Formats: sequence, structure tokens, C-alpha cells
Amino acid sequence: MFDLTIGGQQVATTARFAVRNPATGAIVGEAPNASAADLDRAVRAARDAQPGWAARPDGERAAACGAVAAILTEHAEELARLLTQEQGKPLNGLGSRWELGGAAAWAGHTASLSLPPEIIQDDEAGRVQGIRKPIGVIGSITPWNFPVMIAIWHIMPAIRAGNAVVLKPSPLTPLATLRMVELANAALPAGVLNVVTGDDRDFNIGAAMSEHAGIDKIVFTGSTATGRHVMRSAAGNLKRLTLELGGNDAGIVLPDADPAAIAEGLFWGAFINNGQTCAALKRLYVHDDIHDAVCEALVAFAGRIPVGDGMDEASILGPVQNRMQFDKLAALVSDAASRGQVLLGGRPGPGLFFPPTIIAGLKNGDALVDQEQFGPALPVIRYRDLEAAIAAANDNPNGLGGSVWSTNIEAARSVAQRLECGSAWINKHGAVQPNVPFGGVKQSGFGVQFAEAGLRENTTLQVIFG
Ligand code: NAD
Repeated sequence: MFDLTIGGQQVATTARFAVRNPATGAIVGEAPNASAADLDRAVRAARDAQPGWAARPDGERAAACGAVAAILTEHAEELARLLTQEQGKPLNGLGSRWELGGAAAWAGHTASLSLPPEIIQDDEAGRVQGIRKPIGVIGSITPWNFPVMIAIWHIMPAIRAGNAVVLKPSPLTPLATLRMVELANAALPAGVLNVVTGDDRDFNIGAAMSEHAGIDKIVFTGSTATGRHVMRSAAGNLKRLTLELGGNDAGIVLPDADPAAIAEGLFWGAFINNGQTCAALKRLYVHDDIHDAVCEALVAFAGRIPVGDGMDEASILGPVQNRMQFDKLAALVSDAASRGQVLLGGRPGPGLFFPPTIIAGLKNGDALVDQEQFGPALPVIRYRDLEAAIAAANDNPNGLGGSVWSTNIEAARSVAQRLECGSAWINKHGAVQPNVPFGGVKQSGFGVQFAEAGLRENTTLQVIFG
């Protein structure tokens, strides 16, 4: 039974909704369909708990985050199996077990962070220091692609900094998150971490949270379109916002790259989590001199990857998570196939399975290149002139990640600096670390997560003169 967690209690709702396994269509479990009154209760529980939590010694909050990390490790297999069934990602490869390992690592690292008072001035004119205070109640809204890890990215720094949290997972993948919050509550005072789920039909909880006067900040990870709604709704009580939105990351392969050496990195950059990853490689610009060799090496590597039901230990990629995503991808791939050459995959099915697809001969202006397609498809664009390739890479409203592939690191770094994105990688794509800030520019959002910079975003600054 999956219930809400409000004020440290498991709360059952009468209304529930089914969550289905994208690999089989089978019902995995039923999640609570929370009402506006349930949300109000969760916000009130968080408001009641927050001042006491903020008043605890800093070391106690650090220890609680460490205890959550230990709980995630202890229950990793149970949570991973649940996650695979509702999300579709495999247990193995860069799938559920990897996600749970990442979540525990992030929780553990957050435990080690702190924000000591900053001495801004200390001289004969006087002393000025800056101190960091919690914001209050933070609402976290998460997507369906990395449900557990992204929830941990949101809630751990919020809690570490002395806030209380109301978490709302995606209706497509609520179950592992509900169970994770239930387990994590063993390490936290009642009301510090609450979770509400709903199917977004009659009552859109995320929209209600964005408007709620009892919530002081929203941390949102999801699509750019929904991010815009959140930003508009947040104006009422001038909520603070961190928005981690869509990406359409470009990679540029310079003519001196070694095709055989980069094939594996290109594959995982593009196809991690079936490409349903905000900072996945979504457009690959390859220099004419090595275009064919890069395509050949990439297709050879991708063609060997086993795709199947994620619960099968042999699967390295699973199905696409949901029908809407699948249909959107199928339409974009079919359009791209009529404009370029399909080098691998391209034929959707059976069910929600979609084979890794690589299509060459495309250019900016083609829908698969311009739009965030969020699936296992990679368009390859041939270039001759590096300046034109950089301009084409930057000619997109998104600015989350980007990458440059070359044997000349200095040359790659100078190209990386010219990419309009929050994170740029050399000879890899999409790697994130708990000690390195992460966030988008342009319409990929604003604010950063991770490290001290991310922790700071869960605080307000007070300066004290004297
Ligand atoms: P989505 O925007 O459809 O949903 C995200 C969350 O918002 C869900 O919990 C949903 O229930 C909730 N929601 C729906 N309507 C809302 C409203 N009006 N107000 C507030 N919340 C509302 O996104 P998705 O399809 O779940 O996730 C895929 C998207 O997320 C992609 O665009 C991807 O790039 C993006 N993403 C970004 C990052 C990042 O770090 N930048 C990470 C992962 C995913």
C-alpha cells in the first residue's frame, strides 16, 4: 500500500490511481490521489515542523541527511525494483540500481556541506557578516525520468539548510518516491518531509503548490512549458524559484577526434535512460573529415545494446516511459527519416519499446534537431566550418548542457567556452557530480543545484552590521 506521508504519518486517501509498467502495461500499484485539503494539511505540517527543525544544531541536520543516505543504501534493491517497474528503466546499465546509488551519494554529500557565516568586512569601521537562514517551506515538483534521484537533489539540500519540504512526484512515477519518503521519515522529525501525489486530472497539485501562500519556494524540474506556469503562479507571494527545465544539448566533434575512442561516450551521452534525460546529447555536429567514421563506430556500439523489459537482468535499455512521449518521438523520427538517412533503428515498437535510433543527413530547421525530443534518437549533422557549427549549436532556446569531442583538450576547451549552456563537457556528455554546481541558462531555467552553491539556494541571506 502506497500512502501519503504528512506530518510523519502515513495517510491513506479514498481516491487512488493506477500506475502502469511501461514494459508490460501491467498495474504496478495504486498511488493516492490527494485533494486540495490533503495538500493544505501537508503544507501546515511542514510549516509547524520547520521552526523547530531550523533551531536544531547544524550537526543534527547533517547527521539526518547522512542517515537518509544510509536508508537509501539499505533499501536500494527494493526501491530499484519498484522504480524499474513504474519507470521502465532497467535494473542494470545506467538504470535503477545506478539511480539509487546516485541518490545515496548525493544525500551523503549534502550531509557534508555547510554554509558558515561569511565575514564581509571586519576592520576599524566595523564588522559586517552574512548569515544564511532557511527560507521556510519548500515545495519540490519532480518529473518522471529520474524520480528518486531528482527528488533527493531537491529535498536533501532543502532539509540540510533547515527548511521543511512538501514533495510532489510525477503522476507517471510516484511509487518509488512515496516509499522512499516513508523510509526517510525514520531519520527525520515529523513534518520535515511530506509527500503528496495525484493524477493531475481534477486537481493539479503542482499548480496548486505554485500558488500556495504557505509555500515559500518551489524547486521545479520538468518541462519548459510547465516551468512557465510555475513562474506565473509563483508571483502571488513572490516565491523563490529554482527551475531546471528542458534541454536540447549539442555535441561538436572536432576533426581530430578518434571515432573508435569516442563512440561509447557518445552513445551513453545520447542514450542514457533512453535519451529521456534533460542533459542528454540531443544533436551531434560532426566534422566532414570524420563524419562517416564516427557514424560507423557509433552505430556499431549502439547496435550491440540489449533492449528489453527492465526487470530482465540482461536489459541495458528499457521501453520509453509513456505513450505521449512515444507518440511524439515516433512522429519526429518519421519526419526525420524522410529528410535524412536512418543509420540505426527508426521503427517504433512493440508496445512502448523504441530501438536506439541514429539519423544522419539532418540540419538545423529539421524538427528532430530543433525540438527537445527526449527519447532514444540522435540526429547527426555534418559540418565543414567550425564557426557555423558553433552558431548552429547555439541557435536554440535551450541552454542546459553541451559537449566538445577532440584529442586536443585546449582546442576543445576554447570551443566549450563558446557554447551557450550551463555545463559543457569534453569527451563526455551529461556527467553530473554532487560537488559541482549544475543548472541551465536561457530557457533551460535558472538557479543551480548541488554543492555549496546549490545549498545556498535553499537559504536567504541576512547581513548583520556590528
Ligand atoms: P512536466 O513538466 O510535464 O512535469 C513535471 C512535473 O510538473 C510533474 O510532477 C507534473 O505533475 C507537474 N505539473 C504538471 N502541471 C503542472 C503545473 N501546471 N504546475 C506545476 N506543476 C505541474 O515534465 P515531465 O514530462 O515530467 O519531465 C520531462 C521534462 O523534464 C523534460 O522537458 C526534461 O528536459 C525536463 N527535465 C529537466 C531536468 C533538468 O535538470 N533541467 C531534469 C529532468 C527533466
